[in-house]
Amino acid sequence: MKYLVLILVVLGLVWMIRRPRGASDRRDSQPRPDKPTDTQDMVRCPVCDLHLPRSDALPGPYGQLYCCAEHRQRDES
Ligand SMILES: [Zn+2]
Repeated sequence: MKYLVLILVVLGLVWMIRRPRGASDRRDSQPRPDKPTDTQDMVRCPVCDLHLPRSDALPGPYGQLYCCAEHRQRDES
């Protein structure tokens, strides 16, 4: 039982020593991207049900967001 506690303490020390250094290495080696693309705000075109990033969508007259000008026009008429 004493050895088990000793092993746990050693593992804990190793973990505590290694963790901050690994985090700082990652921060130094590459700058963090502003936002990964998979967490981008997605909207759905009401005409074709295509999902696209909000920044690429075309706003319609009633607040809808469309994938292209053609679908925006089609929904208006
Ligand atoms: Zn569409």
